[in-house]
Amino acid sequence: MNDIIKEELIRIGNELWMQGFTPANAGNFSVKLADNTLLCTATGVSKNQLTKKSIIRIDLQGNPIDENNDFSPSSEIKMHIEAYKCRPDIRVVLHAHPIYATTFASIGKDLNDNILPEATLQLGSIPVAKYGTPSTNDLSKSIIKPLQTSDAVLLENHGVIVVAENLKMAQFKIEILEHYCHVLYNLNNLNQSKRLTDSQVLQLIELRKSNKLPGRALIKYSNEEIQFK
Ligand SMILES: [Zn+2]
Repeated sequence: MNDIIKEELIRIGNELWMQGFTPANAGNFSVKLADNTLLCTATGVSKNQLTKKSIIRIDLQGNPIDENNDFSPSSEIKMHIEAYKCRPDIRVVLHAHPIYATTFASIGKDLNDNILPEATLQLGSIPVAKYGTPSTNDLSKSIIKPLQTSDAVLLENHGVIVVAENLKMAQFKIEILEHYCHVLYNLNNLNQSKRLTDSQVLQLIELRKSNKLPGRALIKYSNEEIQFK
């Protein structure tokens, strides 16, 4: 089973790297296993060069479990552990530096506009976690509050973190987030955009309810908001 998960992580690493989400050795991924240990990517490894050896099993304190191994856990593993602590419903954490989402993360404002139905439906409002120096407690603590409402969070002046119940949904969410930010960037350049109307947003809220989509999302419209959790 762990081998299948490792193969999935290798595939996702390749695909996100190809899309420019993880330049150099940026980004780190983890999966929570049934025994409450984690599989996580090693520090310093390009995500298009992941191997089964560079995906390490650790406990929830961040200590490596399997002796093998020349690799060490990601330097951001504290942030992943914090995410699993505050969100017992999730099994996957992906952290990356996609260009457009990182651009908006460096403005430091929550993204509250409803423009694309898929982004509103799957992600809702996208909050910003206050800046913390990478690999410090400041960064790992910064995600606690935004993860209460959302599965996709911008890390101020840094990148993004996405959480989900499985790898497939986590990959979808990070791709939806980056696509949305790319469109938003283009609309800002055009200096115009057309937002979804309240009734269009309400239909998406009903769709999210009837499809019983898992995960958390805060959908805002006019002066109203609805929290899915
Ligand atoms: Zn990072």
